[in-house]
Amino acid sequence: MHRPIYLDCHATTPMDERVLEAMLPYFTEHFGNPSSISHTYGWEAEAAVKQGRQILADAINATPVEIIFTSGATEANNLAIKGVAEAYLSKGRHLITVQTEHNAVLDPCHYLETLGFEVTFLPVKDDGLVDLSQLEQAFRPDTILVSVMAANNEIGVLQPLAEIGDLCRQHNVLFHTDAAQAIGKIPLDVQSMKIDLMSLTAHKIYGPKGIGALYVRRRNPRVRLAPQLHGGGHERGMRSGTLYTPQIVGFAKAVELGLEEQPSESQRLIEL
Ligand SMILES: *Cc1c(COP(=O)(O)O)cnc(C)c1O
Repeated sequence: MHRPIYLDCHATTPMDERVLEAMLPYFTEHFGNPSSISHTYGWEAEAAVKQGRQILADAINATPVEIIFTSGATEANNLAIKGVAEAYLSKGRHLITVQTEHNAVLDPCHYLETLGFEVTFLPVKDDGLVDLSQLEQAFRPDTILVSVMAANNEIGVLQPLAEIGDLCRQHNVLFHTDAAQAIGKIPLDVQSMKIDLMSLTAHKIYGPKGIGALYVRRRNPRVRLAPQLHGGGHERGMRSGTLYTPQIVGFAKAVELGLEEQPSESQRLIEL
């Protein structure tokens, strides 16, 4: 059967065969629950999750405890935005984001508006980038969060994360970035870029669908987050639910391959 050439890789990508291969044993042979602490099946799964968490943390210069697994970037964005809004109510009810964000950022913000929060939706310049002086002017004493994406899913522009991080620190406001289109493609460093929360997903970089993560800074400053899913207290209480071991293994493998192949892959894409 004739299949059309696929040109929609910002919507999703096929899975890399090497990712699938890494995942397969965790569906059948090593199927344990990583939270089962009293037997081998649990320990095997726990070891795989631990390794995946380490790979993700290393990829963004974070520590493993700062990685909270989610079902994807949509959930990570919701957890970051609504979780911060709820946890920092006593500080204020104002958020800043950008008009060109993904709906998974815009819609949680619109939802917060219905609850009485105020959101500034900054426009972008002709080149698609945030105007830093406009951002600076938007800060208010009651601002609790700035959310600006790393790489745009429609036009590909890379926002100046480090400069935005600097401004947020100066104003003592948390900085969240949706890095769904950036992880595995460009270098990301939560320390040098002063990022407090970062949303990630696997399926834009040849990983499986249905897995992502939220980086949540634990020191300088320690970010507080109201969980949006309550239950067994997984992921430091921030996101309950049995961890999806095969997806986590696949996510980590995709990120690892992405980083390894970043220089040659960037070159290939530029040529295309
Ligand atoms: C794809 C995408 C999302 C949604 O990610 P899911 O993992 O599919 O929920 C969020 N933000 C951006 C920028 C994206 O490209």
